[in-house]
This record gives sequence, C-alpha cells and structure tokens, in this order.
Amino acid sequence: MHKAGDVRVEDRDDPVILEPTDAIVKLTASCICGSDLWPYRGIEPADHQVMGHEYIGVVEEIGADVKTVKPGDFVVGSFVISDNTCEICQAGFQSKCVHAEFVAQTVGTQAEKARIPHADGTLVKTPETPGPELYPALLAASDVLGTGWYAAVAADAGPGKTVAVVGDGAVGLMAILAAKQLGADRIIAMSRHPERQKLARYYGATDIVEERGDEGVVRIKELTGGLGAHSVVEAVGTQESFMQAVGATRGGGHLGYVGVNYDVQIPGIELFFAGIHTLGGPAPVRRFLPDLIDRIWQGEIDPGKVFDLTLPLEEAPEGYKAMDERRATKVMLTL
Ligand SMILES: [Zn+2]
Repeated sequence: MHKAGDVRVEDRDDPVILEPTDAIVKLTASCICGSDLWPYRGIEPADHQVMGHEYIGVVEEIGADVKTVKPGDFVVGSFVISDNTCEICQAGFQSKCVHAEFVAQTVGTQAEKARIPHADGTLVKTPETPGPELYPALLAASDVLGTGWYAAVAADAGPGKTVAVVGDGAVGLMAILAAKQLGADRIIAMSRHPERQKLARYYGATDIVEERGDEGVVRIKELTGGLGAHSVVEAVGTQESFMQAVGATRGGGHLGYVGVNYDVQIPGIELFFAGIHTLGGPAPVRRFLPDLIDRIWQGEIDPGKVFDLTLPLEEAPEGYKAMDERRATKVMLTL
C-alpha cells in the first residue's frame, strides 16, 4: 500500500531464511481483512506498507532449528508471530508472546511467498495436503475464525448461555459459529443486512436484532427477561457498538471484544457500574488452530462461506475497493 487508497501489486525480492527458526512458505491463498481497511481509509498510516496477515501455503524451506514443519508440509499460519514456548504463550496468549510480531506489519502475506519467523510457534500443519475445496475454511482459521472463536471463549459462551454478537462482518459471523459449537443455548445476531442475517442463521443465530445503540440494548434486555445476555461479543470497534456491547451484557456476564477500536472512549463509571467480565484484544489464534483445523478436517464446521469474492492476487486493488465499498464481506486472493 503506497498510501491510503493506493494498493499495487509489485515484484519484491524472494524472501530468504534469516534466522534458524524461520520458514519460507509458498502461499496458496491469502485474503483481505477488515483491518486492512484502516490504512486504506487513512485511519492508520501507510507508506509503502507490505499488506496481508492471513495465509495458508506449503513450506518451501526451513531454518536449522525448525522441528515441527518441513518442506512440503501444508500449513495454516497465525497473524501474530509467536514462539509458543514463553510463559505468555504457555498461558494461551500467543498474540502477546515475548517475541510477538504482527505479520501485517513486517511480513505481508498478500504475496507469493513469505518468511515466517518462529515457524514452530506460528505455523500449524494440516493432517494431509488439502484439496482446493478446503482452502477457504483453512484460510478463515488463520484470522477471522480464530478471532471469532477467541471472542466467543472470552465471552464465556457455552451451554445454558444466551450469546449476543454485535457486528455481522466476518468475525461476528465466526463468533456465531463458535458460540454454536461451544454449545450456547441461544445466539442473538445484531445485524441489519438481509444477506448477512441469512448467513448468521446458517451459522447458528436463533434471533436477529436490527436495532443499534441504546435501542439495541433495550431489545437484548427484552429478549433476556430484562437481564441482558450472559455473553456478548463485540466485533465492530466503534463507540456505539462498544457501548452497545457493554450495555447488553448482564451483571456478572462476560464481554469478549475483538473489534479494533481506535477511537473508542469507555467512560470508566459506565464500566464500573456494569459489573461485568471483559477480555479482548488481538486473538491468540495459535491457541485454537490445532482444534480448528481438526474441526474443519472432520467437516464439523464450514467457516469458508464468509468469503464472498475470490480474486487472483494481481487483482488485489479491486478486492480492497470492493471491501471498502461494502460490495464484499471478505475477499480471498488466490495464487
Ligand atoms: Zn511466546
């Protein structure tokens, strides 16, 4: 991304092994994330920035210390580099690893090849080489599914729980899928778009709420005997959506927030009196990847439906445009 709104596909030098813990991955597919729109719209700075952090592909070369993957292995990567061995990783928060590095900032996987540092701690190989029909699902696991799953876990979704999901983008839809898989009794999708409502129901939503802000909170309370939802996922990241999520959570309930919230100001006193658990931030996708790959392999989940436009990598600029103009929810880039 040369600058906001200016994405170009250009030749770069092939990546090479720099550290013994590196792997070079020949990418099979990548995609454009909602968070890529932040620099595209000028909200984050972009000056000849490499782009992309979601990826699947085949390991081409490994450094001397890499043990869990080898050339020829098909792998799914996490969007944050992690060693998966430090205390933070061992506690399941690989996105806050002492060696954490955002793939989006330093690697850029909207590319033919990528150098992945800490390959053992970042990449997970699939049981076998998948067919192309599994690419969308595995690619979703790299971020949106992993992030939605983390949000549902952070919101303590499970049996006996009513889960409300604020946001009907790819991550919100994946949080619905996760809440269903985790056994939630009832899942309320907050959405105004007919197409996305349809997908929300496909993934397990039992109720749809179209109201937003304070009206949305009132509707959630009406649907939950005046109490609010046990579990709320915030997957948008605006002032209105965040406060809507806080307001929709019952006392003692759990809020999982994964919408990147640049400009949100949380009034301390509202959070204080809400009396809720909160957990969020960049998802430790690596924690969930082995389980998610297994569920995809067994055919238990079908997260790949979140991609509604597929383009060759060369047409990435059109993919950005389509997402920016909301003509597409999520764009897969093929190689
Ligand atoms: Zn670590």
